[in-house]
Amino acid sequence: MKQKQLIIGNWKMNPRTVLEAQKLFDDIKKEVAVFQGTDVAVCPPFVFLSGLSALNSGKEISLGAQNVSSEEEGACTGEISVGMLKTLSVKFAIIGHSERRAMGETDEMVSKKVVAAVKAGLTAVLCVGERERDHESAFLQILKEQIIASLSGISERQLKNVVIAYEPVWAIGAKAKGVVEPEALLETIIFIRKVLSDLYSQKTAHAMKILYGGSVDEKNAGSFLKEGGANGLLVGRASLNAKKFVEILKIADNI
Ligand code: PEP
Repeated sequence: MKQKQLIIGNWKMNPRTVLEAQKLFDDIKKEVAVFQGTDVAVCPPFVFLSGLSALNSGKEISLGAQNVSSEEEGACTGEISVGMLKTLSVKFAIIGHSERRAMGETDEMVSKKVVAAVKAGLTAVLCVGERERDHESAFLQILKEQIIASLSGISERQLKNVVIAYEPVWAIGAKAKGVVEPEALLETIIFIRKVLSDLYSQKTAHAMKILYGGSVDEKNAGSFLKEGGANGLLVGRASLNAKKFVEILKIADNI
């Protein structure tokens, strides 16, 4: 059976108000019922999760968090626990996004967060990606180390609750230097599966969802999913525009 594509919108620190968040969510929700071959999730800022969860009684769109605490409870000012997210029917947690790694999040912290999320039954969207892509392919070693360290507490059985998002840092955001060519993406995804196969098993590595993220829009989405071999997309800027995001969903659903 064909594997479903997974398209996740990462709203980052947007939009500015609850009303804008609800409008954006509603505009996407109106369109998603028709998609058969695509799972859709959005990851709004924490403060909007509760309101959006209330709007989502039919669970047409899965909700995700953009980060999570590795601790279950206690003296962790400013943190949000996996248990809290579960009470809001949150399904995904983005972990190890490059913007958080740039704020000081280490592989060790990422690993603890992945364990906390998976133990609670959330699906961890583990972000990995090189800062620069060099011609000698040294970036592959960086990717390998990130994957091994970030999954160090995860058993083969638990891996079904992990999705990998390959997000080359140089391709993310308004200052991106470019996007990955689909052929280069395919090679990188094959490499990631090889790392997973060596760590776990070929069967598990093959079954794992590997998403691509970095300047995805309605013009290039199809090439990442078809020629690039990605099982889905993590979409930043384009997910803040309902029309563009729905266009990406349509493209994914037609593959
Ligand atoms: C992201 O930050 O996860 C991302 C992919 O952003 P953008 O699509 O805006 O490059």
